[in-house]
Amino acid sequence: MSNTLELYLKRPNELELRTAEMASRLKDNEVKIKMIYGGICGSDLRVYQGAISYAQYPIRPGHEALGTIIEAGAAVPYDIGTRVVVFPNTFCGTCEFCLNEKTNICIKKKPLGVAIDGVFAQEVILDAKYVFPVPGNLPDERAILIEPFAVTIHALKKASILPGTTVAIVGCGTEGLLAVALALHLGAKVTAIDVNPVKLEIAKALGAVTALMPQAVNGELFDVVVEAAGVKAAIQQAMQIVKPGGTMIALGITGEPVNMSPIHIVRNEISILGTIIYTLKDFADAIEYLSCPSLFVEPVISKVVPLADYQAAYAQALSGNYAKILLAFAR
Ligand SMILES: [Zn+2]
Ligand SMILES: [Zn+2]
Repeated sequence: MSNTLELYLKRPNELELRTAEMASRLKDNEVKIKMIYGGICGSDLRVYQGAISYAQYPIRPGHEALGTIIEAGAAVPYDIGTRVVVFPNTFCGTCEFCLNEKTNICIKKKPLGVAIDGVFAQEVILDAKYVFPVPGNLPDERAILIEPFAVTIHALKKASILPGTTVAIVGCGTEGLLAVALALHLGAKVTAIDVNPVKLEIAKALGAVTALMPQAVNGELFDVVVEAAGVKAAIQQAMQIVKPGGTMIALGITGEPVNMSPIHIVRNEISILGTIIYTLKDFADAIEYLSCPSLFVEPVISKVVPLADYQAAYAQALSGNYAKILLAFAR
């Protein structure tokens, strides 16, 4: 056995940094990764707070991971030293959905850091089928956004977004902000909506964006509305600001029932499309988009915090006043 330093969530709200044992021999299909960055995501915060019903405890949290392969099993096609991102949702490969390339809705899907141990450790061992090599020209600070950006790509593929398409993004957390960045990149006219002025400032830093508090939206309608807040009031507003014939993409997650008016949806021919995580193709597309220097995402990273300061990192992420906070794992 060898040791590594990991975050460990004993039960909701009890997070610690501890030394854990890890297997000293890899299976043929496994890689050992030395972590560079881990991104703290909204779902990590909900697991921390005990707000996800299917979360398992105790658990090692985290799913957004960039690292370097430091050991590889005999059947692994990657060299030692390859930088990789983790594809953090398992899939069976044999169910009806996997066979149709919809691994995102695999019936046996298990999200890392929620249902099975995640990646917030200095070293992690994973099946090599869940890692993607990162091209050399992609800096660490962009590569760590591959996973959340794949979520955005999968969502925005649901609608046709062309130069001049009017797109409203409701909710400017990391996913909302990345949706702003991608919609701008595709040439859309983008309006960002959030209750928090700090988030609106970050949205504006991404480019030519109209940034509004929810109450400031005044009768304007949009071809595409991306609901990325996952809050009742935001979802209800998102349905109201779709242009007749337009599309609302439902990306935010809540179990809370919302009020909807069927007559409004029917008479205006509004499409409401759900979207969850990404497929393998979306992950590959995320790598390609982020390799393109004209895609501007830098303001989405608010802070880089050393692993030892994980408590401050979680507290800041929970404050709601930051976009992406990264944990830096280098010793
Ligand atoms: Zn995430
Ligand atoms: Zn499956």
